[in-house]
Parts: sequence; C-alpha cells; structure tokens
Amino acid sequence: MSGPHYEVYAIKYAHHERRASENFLDGKPLDAHEGPMPLDYFVWLIRGQGREIVVDTGFSAAMAAKRNRIHLRCPAAALRLLQCEAAKVKDVVITHLHYDHVGNFDLFPSATLHLQELEMRYATGRYMCQECFRGAFEVEDVVGMVREVYAGRVRFHDGDAELFPGVSLHLIGGHTMGLQAVRVATRRGWVVLASDASHFYANMEQVRPFPIVWSVADMVDGYARLRALAESPGHVIPGHDPLVMHRYAAPSKALEGIAARLD
Ligand SMILES: [Zn+2]
Repeated sequence: MSGPHYEVYAIKYAHHERRASENFLDGKPLDAHEGPMPLDYFVWLIRGQGREIVVDTGFSAAMAAKRNRIHLRCPAAALRLLQCEAAKVKDVVITHLHYDHVGNFDLFPSATLHLQELEMRYATGRYMCQECFRGAFEVEDVVGMVREVYAGRVRFHDGDAELFPGVSLHLIGGHTMGLQAVRVATRRGWVVLASDASHFYANMEQVRPFPIVWSVADMVDGYARLRALAESPGHVIPGHDPLVMHRYAAPSKALEGIAARLD
C-alpha cells in the first residue's frame, strides 16, 4: 500500500491453561467436544517512520502469581529482544484497563498513555460496585492510572482518532465500556490489533462472545467493525489466541515462541 507503513509485532509474555467452554458466553466448547483452549498474553510493538508505539503493557510476575497465570517474561525485557527500550518509548496505547493490559505502565516513564475517556469512566464509576464487571480490573492499576492523569501523562481519546499517519485508534466497547482497537498501515495492508474485542479467532468468526463482557451487543457489533477496518478478516489479530504464534513467523530464530511478525 502507498503512504507510510509500519512493522507490527506480537510479543507473548504469559500463558494460562483453561477449558474451551470457559471462553464462550454460551458455556459450550469450541467444537462438539470439550478440550483445552489456553490463553496467551501479548503486548504489541508498532515500529516505523522513526516511531515506536507499544500497545498494552502486560502484567508483572507478582500479578501472575496472584492470579495464577504463568509468567514467561517481563514485557519490557521481551521488547528489548526487539531492540526496543521500554523506558524510551514515547507512545503507549492502553487498549483497556484490565490487569493483563495495563500492569507495567511504570516501566514506560517517557510515554504518553493513550486511553479512551469511556474506559476511565468505566473503571472508576458505578459499574465497579459489581464483581461481575470489576473482576478483571486491579484497583492499584486503576489508581495508578489516575495518578498518571494528574502527572499529565494520559492523553484521552473520545472515539476514533488518528494517532499518526497510518496508525489509528477505534473505540469498540463491548468487552469493557472503552475498549479500543488499533489499526496499522503495513506492507500487506491494514492490520487491526483487536486486543480483547476478540480474545480468540473463534469468538469473532463464530460470533460467540467471550464471557467477560460489558455489553454483548457492542461486542457482537465490534466483530463487524474489526472486519470493516482490516484489509481482510485474516488481518484482524485477536488479543489472546495462541494461534497467532502459529499463523505468523518469528522475526528471527532466536525469537521463536516469543514474538511473531504481523506485517
Ligand atoms: Zn485481556
């Protein structure tokens, strides 16, 4: 495609074993039979045009222990394997404020944090009185983000926004009130980092929402939005699917199983 384009990497930093039926609101397995359907945890790097943009910051080893997840590596250490210094990154997109997407933002002291207004409203408002909505938030992450607001480090976006030529943010909602996806111009066309607008390929392909959800209607509408934003349905990258590491090659032999190049 013409115009600016970017490299895009998925970086795997954690893992969690679970059953397929736990990944769908209808409580049914993926196919006819119940089986394992683990989650991988990712952060993403967008690089090009002299810029580095990190999408989400992952969680720490301590949080992994608290929540019984397998922590494979610190996201900042993984970024270093791609010659990206977390401490120098200028722009971090926070897709939403769940613990597995926002835990390490203190490792990015130079960055402006890009967040949807609705997500802060959600994470600090009345719905957090209910366990079913607050379960995937950590209060210290949310309070930490409020501190970053007062430190002048947060840039709020209200709906869709162009971050740079060829990189844009898109309010999807659904999973949380203010979840945003990221659309990136690449050499193979528009790639969309869905984050948790679709945890797995199967959620969007079978229109079967993940069970952690703010609005089922917005989540289902979001699947169509993602497809409309991307070059093809295959250009949408789900937020937690181990298949991403199989469908896309590692950028080098040393990074096999750690990073996949998406552009
Ligand atoms: Zn997530």
